[in-house]
Amino acid sequence: MRPEDILLPTPAGLCCRLGGFHIDPTQPVDKAVITHGHSDHARAGHGAVLATRETLDLMRLRYGENFAGSTQAVRYGETVKLDGAAVTFHPAGHVLGSAQVEVIANGLRIVASGDYKNVADPTCAPFECVACDVFITEATFGLPVFRHGDPQAEIAKLLHSVALFPERAHLVGAYSLGKTQRVIALIRAAGYDKPIYLHGAMERITRYYETRGIDFGRVELVRGANKAQLAGTITLCPPATLRELWSRRFRDPVTCFASGWMRVRARARQHLVELPLVISDHADWDGLTATIAATGASEVWVTHGQEEALVHWSVTHGLRARPLDIVGYGDEDETNGLTDGPDTAS
Ligand SMILES: [Zn+2]
Ligand SMILES: [Zn+2]
Repeated sequence: MRPEDILLPTPAGLCCRLGGFHIDPTQPVDKAVITHGHSDHARAGHGAVLATRETLDLMRLRYGENFAGSTQAVRYGETVKLDGAAVTFHPAGHVLGSAQVEVIANGLRIVASGDYKNVADPTCAPFECVACDVFITEATFGLPVFRHGDPQAEIAKLLHSVALFPERAHLVGAYSLGKTQRVIALIRAAGYDKPIYLHGAMERITRYYETRGIDFGRVELVRGANKAQLAGTITLCPPATLRELWSRRFRDPVTCFASGWMRVRARARQHLVELPLVISDHADWDGLTATIAATGASEVWVTHGQEEALVHWSVTHGLRARPLDIVGYGDEDETNGLTDGPDTAS
């Protein structure tokens, strides 16, 4: 049996006919297995949805109670039988609740990793490497130029700037699910204990993380604070608002942006970012290649991002490899460069 007989790339996403489900479908389907809550992977309108409890909760926060016909929460390590396939979720280390989906059918083991990173993140369970025959990987930062470095060193740059310019507000552009919460946790880990301010678009998701036991210290909304109060503070906001009217409530702000794309100077300049912070929730080049090798997979399928370089790397390392060309990923988070998710407008 070929791997394509178990998971077939279709216009709606990866389809498992034997199990009667799709993984991260981009169009409405009867049964969806969802890796994580970013809106390009987790869409509303499916019949049944299987995901971790956190992913289901995040979908509910975004889309409302009736985002799916029915839901089933699956724990990490739990195996669910879906007709001719066995499905197990493993932590992906990307955002809270993110999972890799291991599919076993007819003795063949395929892991669809969704989005992932193999570095520590205090706001989600650590990435777990799963041995498999076929590994399906993203390639958001799939070029050797992308090496993210130490996130705590980036936070040190931010705090140094705050100390250097005590009158200026620091505005940190960050995506609302995952990046925002990780940046707050990193700032706290660096010992900063003053209140941290939030744009309203990040409030619900951040409060949800707190209900799952993650402590952010004092987090307050910008709404209601005046210019004088915001002087010298740190505020997290959706990247697009850095250039909007909204940011005028801050006096002489230092604009920062936390993203893996900040490795590219031209990107930072183009978006008028004064202080780029290279912090990503995706694996960098070394992370992608090390993970592929560690899975022991003999075949690699590459989804969204910089597929070509990763396919080339795999082939030169004796693996079979192909790009998947599924349209529809990359509308949220860093996958698409610098756009915002749909819930970042308020
Ligand atoms: Zn994602
Ligand atoms: Zn993605």
